[in-house]
Amino acid sequence: MADRGIVDPAALAARIRAGERTALARGITLVESSRADHQEAAQAMLTLLLPDTGKAVRLGLSGTPGVGKSTFIEAFGMFLTARGHKVAVLAIDPSSTRTGGSILGDKTRMELLARDPNAFIRPSPSGGTLGGVARRTREAMLLTEAAGFDVVLIETVGVGQSETAVADMVDMFLLLLSPGGGDELQGIKRGIMELADLVIVNKADGDLIPAAKRAAMEYKSALHLMRPKTSHWRPEVLLASALKNEGIAEIWAAVKAHREAMSGPGELARQRADQAAAWMWTEIREGLFASLKQNKDAAHLIPVLEAQVHAGTMTPTVAARRVLELVFGTDKGKD
Ligand code: GDP
Repeated sequence: MADRGIVDPAALAARIRAGERTALARGITLVESSRADHQEAAQAMLTLLLPDTGKAVRLGLSGTPGVGKSTFIEAFGMFLTARGHKVAVLAIDPSSTRTGGSILGDKTRMELLARDPNAFIRPSPSGGTLGGVARRTREAMLLTEAAGFDVVLIETVGVGQSETAVADMVDMFLLLLSPGGGDELQGIKRGIMELADLVIVNKADGDLIPAAKRAAMEYKSALHLMRPKTSHWRPEVLLASALKNEGIAEIWAAVKAHREAMSGPGELARQRADQAAAWMWTEIREGLFASLKQNKDAAHLIPVLEAQVHAGTMTPTVAARRVLELVFGTDKGKD
């Protein structure tokens, strides 16, 4: 926090609920803080706001650098705010931990949207593990919902594990691809394609139109070979030009069609409930791991056991049980 003073979670929650942007920004800074008292205040604030969350369309967007993500978000975001929506853009970029930068840190990206009073853009939190970055982004998403944003877009770079983290917190996952076709498909991990509910072939303009159409056909057949994530929705492939503002309305129509298909059978509510439960287990795992690291006896024992496992004189299972017995007492490390 800018000031190091005491945070009043109830007052901050009330201001966020009233849609105050500065309060929202402050609330996100609070969830991003690693200070123990800030974390406590952040959780108190989130608990108060929980009844006001969950009302947004939660979208994930991924694509390799240069495919046109920021151009697309700008076009899509402006399309939505022009229709009365309030759009929040968040990002997950664990690489910012290494580079110190952020995919949304660059001020020249999304210039128009950044100035739009009905849009809110927040760069990826930097520092920490993917799990930590993902938690803070998820909590930031809840805060933007409580502040009245009805479309939340979470951006990530299409190169690694962060896609799964994003897919685990959104209702629908959009994958942006270029007219490169098959070549690009090889570069993109198959697993990322499997996460997609909607594939958008961007840059379908000018000389690139024939290539974009060919690429769309290829992606369609690739998707056909994959097992769908749900029986209620078959992933679609659409063409767009973020630069020329073309195909944007069709993409929004597909998002609405997906919601309808998933909401009817209660699938969307079930997916969100599953995501929340999975999130709890991630927190438990990370909490256990953190307390294990802080346990002094374990810190002494683990390298000794690890050396024995490494040398082949102890099985990994026995070594793991010794550590668990030390931390939780006897018996607890067993099945
Ligand atoms: P990002 O790295 O994925 O965020 O990609 P950018 O949005 O920064 O775009 C990378 C480049 O592709 C820029 O030069 C854009 O002008 C260009 N670009 C983005 N969308 C389109 C499009 O629909 N058509 C064409 N022809 N170029 C585009």
